[in-house]
Amino acid sequence: MKLHNMPSEFQEALPILNKLQSAGYEAYFVGGSVRDAILGRPIHDVDIATSAYPEETKSVFQRTVDVGIEHGTVLVLHHQHEYEITTFRTEDVYVDYRRPSQVSFVRSLDEDLKRRDFTVNAFALNQSGEVIDQFDGLTDLQQYLLRAVGVASERFNEDALRIMRGFRFAATLDFDIETETFQAMRETAPLLEKISVERIFIEFDKLLLARFWRKGFQKLIEAKAYNFLPEMKQKGTELTALLERLKEDFCFQTSEQAWAMLLIALEVKDVRGFLRKWKTSNDFQKTVSHLVEVYRIREEASADKWLCYKYGLDNLLLVEDLRQAQGLSVETESIQALDASLQIHDKHELVVNGATLMQEFGIKPGPQLGKLLTTIEEAIVWGQIENQKEAIFAFLEGKGIV
Ligand code: ATP
Ligand code: MG
Repeated sequence: MKLHNMPSEFQEALPILNKLQSAGYEAYFVGGSVRDAILGRPIHDVDIATSAYPEETKSVFQRTVDVGIEHGTVLVLHHQHEYEITTFRTEDVYVDYRRPSQVSFVRSLDEDLKRRDFTVNAFALNQSGEVIDQFDGLTDLQQYLLRAVGVASERFNEDALRIMRGFRFAATLDFDIETETFQAMRETAPLLEKISVERIFIEFDKLLLARFWRKGFQKLIEAKAYNFLPEMKQKGTELTALLERLKEDFCFQTSEQAWAMLLIALEVKDVRGFLRKWKTSNDFQKTVSHLVEVYRIREEASADKWLCYKYGLDNLLLVEDLRQAQGLSVETESIQALDASLQIHDKHELVVNGATLMQEFGIKPGPQLGKLLTTIEEAIVWGQIENQKEAIFAFLEGKGIV
């Protein structure tokens, strides 16, 4: 098969292939970008595979960065773009199900393509737009099928992350999973316990944010893979309920929103504890906790100025979006109006601080000072007084506080 209109991303990178060829090496575009180009989808990161060894690649180009030289990857800088150029390689003997015990560089493209996970991820594209399709991936692509390269169960045994990648690609590509491949994913799912949580999180997160996330999620449930993911053991019923409660065409807007909904569906009490098991960052934990808190509050009451101030407009709108997706009442417009009516959105916007109060009223540092500042903050947020020094001082004096 020939790709007639090579996307501009490939055209811009052609000089790289040409340069490697002129130096006597083979070089191809590989991986997801070739798959997406054939599907006519937008492509991102153009990856290149070559018969040149890393040191050889480095000697061909002027501007290179060693990003993963032990895996054979050299970053080449070309016209404001960065390209990962990886030496053809095979992965020998897998001892711990998570990474190849040894990477061997080879000179043959065929060997390199064999180690790839799915047939639709195992294409190579040459300079003239010719697609090299060793595993009949083009047929699978036409049928919207995800199929493991080679013997499926062996491939998932070698690297169990591929199981999660399988669910993820079903979700991003809107592909079904070929029967034998799916069977093998189900059988090898227990090996997911051996994979680093961080890597599983990345795949799960991509799945949740994908356009066809329901498809990947459904497959993950069907394979009972959740039993081998942190904090999700035996949560099949709750996960299925999540699919049922959200409207068919709903897509998550952010990672935090997706995980908040997941935790709500799982009825998780200790949100941070759950996310710590998934080894997510503190910032992520904080935002997801906030979303879950707002969600719980909104189950009981309408939003008010303080809620808007405390959690921020964006978080409130993400929660309304989750409510809408479940057919619950929403207050999007009134929340926007509340936000617009706020005089301050952050404590630091107060025109007074501890130092001002100490100077003006001779108050000593201590808990009382903190309380006083909170009283002022509340009065301003609720719109009882202006955020102006005179108004604040008059408010404090009028209340007999100072
Ligand atoms: P995306 O469009 O999300 O970037 P991708 O197909 O490019 O998807 P990457 O994770 O960027 O996926 O990996 C690039 C390529 O490397 C894949 O297409 C596949 O050929 C190969 N690959 C990546 N991870 C694995 C793995 N764990 N096992 C086998 N092959 C893999
Ligand atoms: Mg990629």
